[in-house]
Amino acid sequence: MDAGLYVVATPIGNLEDITQRAIAVLRGADVIAAEDTRHSARLLAAHGIEVPLSAYHEHSDEHAAGKLLDRVAQGAAVALISDAGTPLISDPGYRLVRAAQERGLAVVPVPGACAAVAALSASGLPTDRFQFEGFLPPRQVARQNRLRELEGVPATLVFYEAPHRVQECLADLVTVFGREREAVLARELSKTFETIRRAPLFELSEFVSADPDQRRGEIVLLVAGAPARETDVDEASARWLRRLARDMPAKAAAQIAADVTGLRKKALYEFLVAERGGTD
Ligand code: SAM
Repeated sequence: MDAGLYVVATPIGNLEDITQRAIAVLRGADVIAAEDTRHSARLLAAHGIEVPLSAYHEHSDEHAAGKLLDRVAQGAAVALISDAGTPLISDPGYRLVRAAQERGLAVVPVPGACAAVAALSASGLPTDRFQFEGFLPPRQVARQNRLRELEGVPATLVFYEAPHRVQECLADLVTVFGREREAVLARELSKTFETIRRAPLFELSEFVSADPDQRRGEIVLLVAGAPARETDVDEASARWLRRLARDMPAKAAAQIAADVTGLRKKALYEFLVAERGGTD
């Protein structure tokens, strides 16, 4: 196998969710860098892979990264895996990948399972735009502050959440996003108790409060993006507006664009001013 750092996705539950290529790469690697070597030993045993494991986790220092990359530089194939899913997605590996690139070493992705993408694919929420947020802050004040920043994002939001915090997280989502915003609880994906439930936030919150089983296992929460506001200027109108504003004052451009598009003159004018950094 060619020398390089191979970033290999492993299952998020069901042990069969691993690609043939991932198995071949793991089998052919000289060393497998794993977040938790005991945990990963079980996966490797299940697939009959006997390759030495080396610990690489969140707290690994530059020295550990340097040693792994020295091996790549000497011609080795090093595979990076995490406890579940795709490394670097709410998992360690970012600094290792950067360091490998900086040393001119090959970094090869071996794609596969990722809880965020699996949840999105079966959520029933729009997937044309989504924003991955990973874990929210554990404390309520910080969590609500972060949610306030996200309240107007017009894309499906994807969160990872610990089971013991899902109830309070849903309560905060109701507080900040309102009762009616659609959301999805995607729990234990690919496992025996897989649950995918789409409902308005307050219903989802009640569902989780009423049933302790919904507060167990591994959880992805998805929240529909903010609805478009009436004053939002769509891309076609924005093009009109920008073109007109090249040849006339902003107010006149906004008036003509309002006549043509049916949007409010004030909204169009404010859009132009905002685009110009607040100056007319
Ligand atoms: N790297 C992983 C990935 O590609 O999804 C994520 C690792 S992160 C440390 C672990 C979190 O991912 C869990 O707390 C949970 O939020 C989510 N997760 C992982 N496996 C899951 C599953 N089978 N069902 C639902 N969520 C899962």
